[in-house]
Amino acid sequence: MCGIFGISGNDDVFKDLYQGLLSIQHRGQDSAGAITYDGRFHTKKGNGLVRDIFSLDNFMRLKGSVGIGHTRYPTIGGGGGEDAQPFFVNSPFGIIMAHNGNVINYAELNKILQEQYHRHISSDNDVEIILNIFAQELSVQKINRIEPKNIFRAVQKVYEQVKGGYSVVAYIAEEGMVAFRDPYGIKPLVYGKKEDGIYPSYAIASESVSLNITNFAHIKNVKPGQVIFIDEKRQLHTEQLAQRHFSPCLFEWVYFARPDSYIDNVNVYDCRVNLGKFLAEEIKKHHLDIDVIVPVPDSARDAAIEIARCLKLKYREALVKNRYIGRTFIMPADQDRVSSVRHKLNPIPSELKGKNVLLVDDSIVRGNTSRAIIELIRECGAKKVYFASYSPPLRYPCVYGIDMQTKSEFIARDATVDQIAKKIGADKVIYQSLESLKKAVQIGNKDINQFCGACFDGCYPTGDVTAEVLEAIERDRKTAQKKQLELDI
Ligand code: SF4
Repeated sequence: MCGIFGISGNDDVFKDLYQGLLSIQHRGQDSAGAITYDGRFHTKKGNGLVRDIFSLDNFMRLKGSVGIGHTRYPTIGGGGGEDAQPFFVNSPFGIIMAHNGNVINYAELNKILQEQYHRHISSDNDVEIILNIFAQELSVQKINRIEPKNIFRAVQKVYEQVKGGYSVVAYIAEEGMVAFRDPYGIKPLVYGKKEDGIYPSYAIASESVSLNITNFAHIKNVKPGQVIFIDEKRQLHTEQLAQRHFSPCLFEWVYFARPDSYIDNVNVYDCRVNLGKFLAEEIKKHHLDIDVIVPVPDSARDAAIEIARCLKLKYREALVKNRYIGRTFIMPADQDRVSSVRHKLNPIPSELKGKNVLLVDDSIVRGNTSRAIIELIRECGAKKVYFASYSPPLRYPCVYGIDMQTKSEFIARDATVDQIAKKIGADKVIYQSLESLKKAVQIGNKDINQFCGACFDGCYPTGDVTAEVLEAIERDRKTAQKKQLELDI
């Protein structure tokens, strides 16, 4: 999971780029970066949060009416500074690119790039693969100026070669901005327009919230398999290059996206309220004696309020979050997650002592975070602790860009619900069903009739995720984790 944001405008864009990146900080806290263009490229990238990476000096230095920014959570790469995006190639034209997603056939394409095209990759980041394939396919067209058809041809070639889930934004020096979404539309991508000069300004983002706060309107989704090209006169050219079964990532609505964003026209907040409503129905079936409903902040709040309303039970925010510590799910090394729960959440004992508590969270991934939270609640004197997850059990690795790629990491992998409860120390665990999760999204957009829910049911929409692919990704992941641990020591 990463966040991307690009602007092609009339004035210097870095101020808006910075605000846009802050709004998608939740999509990745490992590193961030931005490149702007005013006749030459200006770059600033590094490890850490957006506010820590960019200084006042960068506001002066990152000049230009075009720019691309990125917030990164590492997937294949170990997360070194060299993996921060955007990336740059100087031939042809000079191209910068950032992406959100994961390339499944990374090793195969890396080999082809080196052996056939003599293009060399300088990081572990898979956007470099997409960038170099795109650059190569532009280069073979032997053109001096770019027309939309040249872009469409190059992106078509990317679609033919690059397997996985990816949303991409790029800028080609003096030619224009390009954005495209994989043929299954697994990762979100939106664009919007602002009439603020002779030509309109355009912005492209992972989430609509970035466009809202920078005053871009007329927001549209980039469709699966669609490419958009904004030329230097800010004329918009679009082409539908590939058409597969649209399969957006279900986890965007569960956890990744901000509640004020619309993902494929479905408001994330509304969806989470619907998830609360459906989960309340499930909880009713268990006839539990619950005194108080407590959300695990922040993502579970919207669903938990709805559960409390439906069940007519007391709702209390009895876990207080330190907002200045990163999201636990997206911290790379596992031991960081356990200790960060202690630093991040502090309970209010008076709301918990002697009570039967129903904790609500968005999901249970590895179980370490849930176990640590339940321990905290029990230390406050709670009588019983029930745990409700408003997403179904996570059992399968995500190959499309989320850091939960080794199957041994899932607590629900080979366990019954009762066994999971025992492992995390809960008196009962209740999960949302996959049908209810899909229904909660479809209430907002009836046209979505298929999803990527592979981490729940093991059905990978791209159809090319074989056992060998899963094993190779698991191997890469373990190597990356080992590398990270060595660095940590
Ligand atoms: S496997 Fe899960 S997290 Fe990954 S893209 Fe599919 S739904 Fe999203």
